[in-house]
This record gives sequence, structure tokens and C-alpha cells, in this order.
Amino acid sequence: MSMMELAAEIVAVAQAIDKAGFCPSKSGNVSARTEAGFLITPSGLPYAQTTPEDLIELSLDGAVLSGARKPSSEWPFHLAIYKARPEAQAIVHTHSPRATALSATRRGIPAFHYMIALCGGADVRCAEYATFGTPELAENAVRALEGRKAVLLANHGVIALGASLAGAHQIVAEVENLAGQYLDILATGLEPVILDEAEMARVSAKFAGYGKVG
Ligand code: 13P
Ligand code: ZN
Repeated sequence: MSMMELAAEIVAVAQAIDKAGFCPSKSGNVSARTEAGFLITPSGLPYAQTTPEDLIELSLDGAVLSGARKPSSEWPFHLAIYKARPEAQAIVHTHSPRATALSATRRGIPAFHYMIALCGGADVRCAEYATFGTPELAENAVRALEGRKAVLLANHGVIALGASLAGAHQIVAEVENLAGQYLDILATGLEPVILDEAEMARVSAKFAGYGKVG
């Protein structure tokens, strides 16, 4: 795939998460790995106005390789994840409403539903709070992502990684769905039954042959 094709795919995902209501006040950002580093959305530019030419390529040292705009303020966590997770080919970050609401409780999402396995393990953790755009946030996110493809950022939002842009997009949407269902359960005052590690391992094994993207 050419750089421009990859850039067009990034813009399409950014516009889709925006349309889904996952990016209030132009929040969120999207990136994909390239040979020399990664290609990322610009900071603060409304997605409806973003074109493939607006994207910025950064090296894994954080140097700008191409692009005239300012890269997303969250480039440090995108960079840290690509460094720590060789399998990550794409990263999607959102402030999707229900997952962000849950993140303010600083709780993750337990395995109340088997679809949690799509996120790589038996839960989705909530990373410790740090100011947006900081190396501390990057560190906290990488730590809480260990063995997982998604994480909540305390009082902030969600990050998902994937083996493709489609995969990361699917996971970020599923996290929003699961966070909403979990909040709905908590609102009843009832306690969900949590699936145990053995069951989640069985589900993960089934997913491996299920034709899931990601
Ligand atoms: P950018 O517009 O700089 O990508 O920032 C959005 C965001 O979600 C910060 O956490
Ligand atoms: Zn954010």
C-alpha cells in the first residue's frame, strides 16, 4: 500500500469515529505504522476538513519526516505503543462517551461479556491518570496495555491498537459498546457475574479461528 493510500485509510477511520460521535470537540487521533515510523492525524484539525495531505509522518525517535502540520498532541503515546508493541500496525484514540464516562470512575471493564476477549485478554484495564500529551500518559498507557489491545485512560478516553486500521477501529467501537453495557449494569445496582479466566481463554481460542479482523 502506498503512503497516500494509507493516509486515505487513516482519514476514513478518523471520519468514521467522528460520525459515530466518538470525538466530541475534535478529540481523538488515528495513526498507522509505516516503514520509517508512523503516519498520524494533525492536532486539532476537524476530521471533516482533514485530507490525506494533512497527515504527518514521524520517526520512532519523534522526528518529523514529512507533513507541514503539527502532529497530534498524543504522538508520544502513539510512538511509545509502536515501540513497545511490534504487532501494532494501527492505533485509534477516542473520547467515546460511555467509555469516557467509565474512565472517570478509574475502573476498567471486567469480563461481564465474552466479547471482552476481542480486546486481547480477560479485561480492559484503566491506565493511571496523567495530563494529555505527556510522556507520563504514554508510560501509563503502555503499562496498562500489557497483553491487551485496548485500554481506558483515566478521566480521558480509550486507546485501541490493531494489526490493521480496521482492527483497531473495530476494537475501539466494541470498547464503547461494552463500557456502555457495563455502566448500565452498574446503574441497576446489580452485580454482573464475571466470566472466569478459563472461560475467557476458551473464548480467545475460538476467536483465533473466527475470522475477526485485528
Ligand atoms: P489532538 O487533536 O492533538 O490529536 O488531541 C486530541 C486528543 O484527544 C488529546 O487527547
Ligand atoms: Zn484524547
